[in-house]
Amino acid sequence: MQAGTTIFEHMSGLARQHDAINLGQGFPDFGWSPEVLAAGAEAITTGYNQYPPMRGLLELRAAVADFYRRRQGLDMAAEQVIVTSGATEALAASIMAVAGTGDEVILFAPAYDAYAPLVQRAGARPVWVELQPPDWQASAAAIAAAITLDTRAILLNTPHNPTGGMAGPAMLAAIVELARKHDLTIISDEVWEEVITGDASHVSPFTLAPERTIKIGSAGKLLALTGWKVGWVVAEAALAERVAQVHQYLTFTTAPPLQTAVAAGLALPDDWFAAARVRFVTARDRLVTDLARHGWKLLPTQGSYFVMADLAASGIKMGDRDFCEAAVIDPGIAAIPLSAFMPDGQQTPFIRLCFAKSDAILDEGAARLNRARAMFAALALRVLSN
Ligand code: PMP
Ligand code: GLN
Repeated sequence: MQAGTTIFEHMSGLARQHDAINLGQGFPDFGWSPEVLAAGAEAITTGYNQYPPMRGLLELRAAVADFYRRRQGLDMAAEQVIVTSGATEALAASIMAVAGTGDEVILFAPAYDAYAPLVQRAGARPVWVELQPPDWQASAAAIAAAITLDTRAILLNTPHNPTGGMAGPAMLAAIVELARKHDLTIISDEVWEEVITGDASHVSPFTLAPERTIKIGSAGKLLALTGWKVGWVVAEAALAERVAQVHQYLTFTTAPPLQTAVAAGLALPDDWFAAARVRFVTARDRLVTDLARHGWKLLPTQGSYFVMADLAASGIKMGDRDFCEAAVIDPGIAAIPLSAFMPDGQQTPFIRLCFAKSDAILDEGAARLNRARAMFAALALRVLSN
């Protein structure tokens, strides 16, 4: 079992302590709607503040179903939606619903930091399949090789944190085919489904195999309100029932005024989501252009708030953790080491940067990263010449 403090908590703590610019933990400083905040305030002061139904307020469950029908062409009923306390609880409930002691769950590396600990808490074993750069796909052969008689689920994350990659048609088809062949559940973490900064469209395995997919979403990302921790699962009736059974003893319910406000947010017009996307693309381009002009080598990114930088290719001969721990102190810039998402935790030459920030923060963040590159690349040169 992994122990210790999460990398996000750790780096944000160091960022506060050293007054660093925080491009580490993934939260935006723009992008939410004042109407949604007003709907939340009104719901608190004039609405219902006691326990809501265990599966969520019907208005939010219907809003989620409407949203996916409108934005992704998915056919689903409100009854298939279960509201959870963030995607994190949705993940926990889904994993515990389908896997237990002695079972195996396939995870793709790199993986969001919560996956492996949640699988282990369920008593199951993570079995890793590596995503291959530069486009972060896994082949049908690699996934098939990881499946055993004990496999119960494949946990997919698309768009992907931390790489910003998206599962392509071949990888999605392989997952669906293998899941059908071996009777596996596909747990599909799609929290970044609306934060698309590349050309590819988001495709959910729920469109391909609704009978065996648990689709997970989060208002945190859809509405740029990460602290609200309102999420959901969508699944067909029997699978939804299994998840609900776990959810009722994990958190049971989620704050009803926030559910009301999120329902209002999901009903925002398509223009609002289009404008949000433009803003994220603009922020990404601003950071990437500045860094690239100063010698940083960045990897392509298609979705999420994140872009990865290649330390080695940028002339910095340091491990990712060493770099992050040093740079947060001087010149005062926080990033997330890719190693926190890797099964073995070994240092890598990659760091993750969050670009969902206002122009001033991005510019100061880039200035400090550029200073860090100059400092640490020079350090490596000095060590080499000694
Ligand atoms: N899954 C992924 C891939 C994430 O990136 C995050 C948070 N950024 C979560 C789950 C957790 O979402 P929530 O805050 O809604 O629990
Ligand atoms: N999901 C956010 C990220 O990837 C952080 C969530 C957290 O702090 N646990 O940065």
